[in-house]
Parts: sequence; structure tokens; C-alpha cells
Amino acid sequence: MRQLTRCDPPPELRTNSSLWTNELLNAIRLTPDRIYLQLSQSQKNRLVRSYFKKFPIIKNTLFRFSGEKCAYCETIPTTGRIQRTIDHFEPVSIHPDSTFQWENLLPSCHDCNSNKRTLDTRVSPIVNPCNDNPEEYFTFNILLLEPSNNLTHEEFTKANRTIIELNLNSEYLLKSRGTLAAAFQAPIAKLRRTMNYLDNNIGHIDQNWESRFVKFRNLLDGLSEEINPALPFLTYRELIINNNTVYQEALRKRVDYENIIRGLVI
Ligand SMILES: [Zn+2]
Repeated sequence: MRQLTRCDPPPELRTNSSLWTNELLNAIRLTPDRIYLQLSQSQKNRLVRSYFKKFPIIKNTLFRFSGEKCAYCETIPTTGRIQRTIDHFEPVSIHPDSTFQWENLLPSCHDCNSNKRTLDTRVSPIVNPCNDNPEEYFTFNILLLEPSNNLTHEEFTKANRTIIELNLNSEYLLKSRGTLAAAFQAPIAKLRRTMNYLDNNIGHIDQNWESRFVKFRNLLDGLSEEINPALPFLTYRELIINNNTVYQEALRKRVDYENIIRGLVI
């Protein structure tokens, strides 16, 4: 999970938000116990879903500011099992007054949204990537997302609840992290071997050394491209690449190698 900066709401929502909210709250007032759950399904569809359906710009704008990713698990939802949905951070069924509030809407995959269900986040707070800095709350232990160290009791509870309620260590997410971690092993090993060759032959630089340097540079660029913000699971990618000692050593040595080649050219 990463911190997100919310953009302005689309005009369609800004213009209609009060009107739609009043319509909904008026309908709720007419139910026997004045609660959302007593609305008929057709009322719920007409008073809530139809507006989000009629104005896809709302969902599209949400996903634009998250880089097309789920705000919680960082997958890039597509069609099929992992769909793009709008999450109401405070659930509609308990806080219908927040239904059309821009600040209450988050881009979410279907899995996170349905795991969260009707959790009352006012009573049981979870990390909100638009209001909190998730980096302060979470860390990875190999593949598992865990609450960070040094949190207060209250913060720990919030982080832990977020992980459990959203199921942020689901089989799918663990497999995705595992696949990424495994995929980086081969290029890191090649980078290590290439760097060893370059270092061991730094005294007699020839065409072979230069061609190995090109290989080294391509491997390093390939790894750097894997931490492109447009890719899913960026937080995990950054962790395993940026914390890799071979990668960090290669970044430092690249400058030295380039200086050596430049010196030869001059
Ligand atoms: Zn998700």
C-alpha cells in the first residue's frame, strides 16, 4: 500500500453530490427504522448504483490518481476475477451521508472491496492510503505484510486490522510477491557475475570488457525499470530491488565503470 494524493473530484460528482445525497437520505427517512438496509434493492440501485454507473468518469478519475491500481493491495485490476470497483471507505449501509463524498471514495479491486465488506471504519479504523502514510504502518517480512516496528498500540491495532480485514496476505498476493521475488533472482545473479568479471579485469580493459559492461548496464537498467511506478506491487518491488546489496553495489560501480570508459575515450 502506498500513500496516494487525491485529485479534484470530477465535475459530475461535485455538481450532483448534494442532490444525490438528499435523495438517498430522504428515501431512508421513509423506511420503518430509518436505515439504509431497509431500502428495497431497486431503490438502492436507483439511488446509488445507477449514478456511479451513469458517470464512469467517477471510477476512472479514482483509478487515474492511483495509477490504475487498487489503493489497498496495488494490483492492477482488469476484467475477470480482479475487477475495478469503487470502495466506500465508510460503508454506504452504515454512513449513507458519505455515499457521494469524494473523500470517501477509493479505487479498489473487487477482492479488497469485498473483503472489507461493511467494516465500520469510523468505529474500527484501518489505514486510509489518502489520509495516512502506509509506509509508516507496514513492513514486509519476506512475503508477508506486517505492521511496522515501533508503532504505538493504537497504530499497531490499526495496521493489523487493515491486513486482516482486507486479507492483504491472501494466497493470490503471496503468490504474486513470491513470483516477483523469484523473477529477480536470475538477473541479480547475472549482475553479480558480470560485475565480478568487470572488477577482476579492470587492469586490462579491452573490447570484451566493454561488451561485458554493456551487458552489465542492460541488466542494471532492466532491474531499474522493474521499479517503474506504473507497475503493480510497487512497494514490494522497491523493497526487494532497492534493498538488494548487489543492485546497490552495481549502481555505485556503474559510475566508476563509466568513468573508466570515458577516460579511455579521452
Ligand atoms: Zn486490492
